[in-house]
Amino acid sequence: MSTSKISSAKKDHSDAIAALQTRFGKQLTTNIMVREQHGHTMTWLANQPPDAVLTVTDKHEVATAVEICNQYQMPVIAFGIGSSLEGQLNAPYGGLCIDMHAMDAILQVHNEDLTVTVQPGVTREQLNHYLRDTGLFFPIDPGANASIGGMVATRASGTNAVRYGTMKDVVLALEIVTASGEIVRTGTRAKKSAAGYDLTRLMIGSEGTLGIVTEVTLKLFGISECIGSGICHFPTIEDACQAVMLTIQMCLPIARIELLDAMQIKACNQYANLDLDETPTLFVEFHGTDASVAEQAQMFTDIIEEFGGRDFAWDTNEAERKRLWQARHNAYHASSALRPEASALSTDACVPISRLAECVSATAKDIEASGMIGPIVGHVGDGNFHVLLLVDTDNPEEVATADGIINRLATRAIEMNGTCTGEHGIGQGKQKYMQQEHGNALVLMQAIKSALDPKNILNPGKIWPEPLPTV
Ligand SMILES: Cc1cc2nc3c(=O)[nH]c(=O)nc-3n(C[C@H](O)[C@H](O)[C@H](O)COP(=O)(O)OP(=O)(O)OC[C@H]3O[C@@H](n4cnc5c(N)ncnc54)[C@H](O)[C@@H]3O)c2cc1C
Repeated sequence: MSTSKISSAKKDHSDAIAALQTRFGKQLTTNIMVREQHGHTMTWLANQPPDAVLTVTDKHEVATAVEICNQYQMPVIAFGIGSSLEGQLNAPYGGLCIDMHAMDAILQVHNEDLTVTVQPGVTREQLNHYLRDTGLFFPIDPGANASIGGMVATRASGTNAVRYGTMKDVVLALEIVTASGEIVRTGTRAKKSAAGYDLTRLMIGSEGTLGIVTEVTLKLFGISECIGSGICHFPTIEDACQAVMLTIQMCLPIARIELLDAMQIKACNQYANLDLDETPTLFVEFHGTDASVAEQAQMFTDIIEEFGGRDFAWDTNEAERKRLWQARHNAYHASSALRPEASALSTDACVPISRLAECVSATAKDIEASGMIGPIVGHVGDGNFHVLLLVDTDNPEEVATADGIINRLATRAIEMNGTCTGEHGIGQGKQKYMQQEHGNALVLMQAIKSALDPKNILNPGKIWPEPLPTV
């Protein structure tokens, strides 16, 4: 199978910017500080700012801007809140960044159907705050307060995914602006459909390379009558992972099961003034009725005993639960504070649940042997975990060591029939694993890209290296 090559070159975009300025006036800025804030800022990848940033307020503005960019062949990069971790927002060929934050309206809640339709700039916390009196909630919770549009584009997930799924499971329909500036709807509010290609799921995880999302219809879930959460400690990380594997294999309907290794617990203790035992720890949560939560907690107690799990205390107290999960959600910032002068490099991988203990243990040994600080934390019920490496990016030896750990982790996960990323996506950072993970399916992906974006204006230079290798 061979493929036509898509390539881009950094061009002078001043004609396009002049045309955009005429149409949008003060909504467009070329201020360098604003541009840099809209390039990639989260890790050690160099910041590559766009040529201009446009703040949009509705889909028609998005469509007009994309139409102008299409005419001048200028790259277009959508921006949510900028929390993506693999360089998804960088503009290696320059271009226009379309900042979606002002498109933040919650358009329709259908309580009786458990659906909501929102603009893409709505954040996950904003949505749950809005829903607080309805008895419903939106479960996908990446550590950052990300935008729904960004979460669609990166196929995000979080601590609740083990029970409620990822963005691929909760998006029912989208409205998108195509590369030529047309407004198109994909999907309906029906729970399922067998009507043709599933364009909605094609867009989810496409990192802004196939279309710009201007509206999202999501599934909602009822808040359980009873929620119990707790933590327990293990002698080794292998024991903690074995307990997770058995929990999932026994089909215990756990709502959250998160691993924090000893280093991560130390970081959380220091950051939030806690006094947790600095050993591998699982944070868990059960949803259901009073009786079913108690039953799940008992089953979990029985499972962890097999693997030396101890001090399992669980509670239904809401304040305590919030305190516990806040510590978990602060994991990134807590770890960064272990070495504040270093850059924090977050990487993730995901394996079938039966390979979890093996993959996590091998990764932990690799980090230990390297001498780097790299706490492990993860949504282990999905076989997904993260390593946060704290790296002095001015030290080439450290950079090479960190790069080695990430390469070996990605390869290890792929060899276990897993993936080089469970949720952070490919962006610029993980392009080199696409071939190994997808083989000649990569050519089909590129054919889709060529068909939907023939001029390669939508977030070029992401997901795969350019030009794409011929398979
Ligand atoms: C502390 C921390 C913890 C994190 N934890 C998790 C986690 O647990 N799970 C997880 O999945 N991720 C996690 N992330 C990563 C990040 O939060 C997610 O990738 C999130 O989905 C990005 O959303 P955003 O609004 O920040 O998007 P941005 O970073 O602004 O954009 C991300 C990508 O989406 C595209 N995009 C944005 N909006 C649109 C749109 N409207 N239409 C088309 N494309 C668009 C952009 O072009 C870019 O390619 C974490 C990040 C941080 C900093």
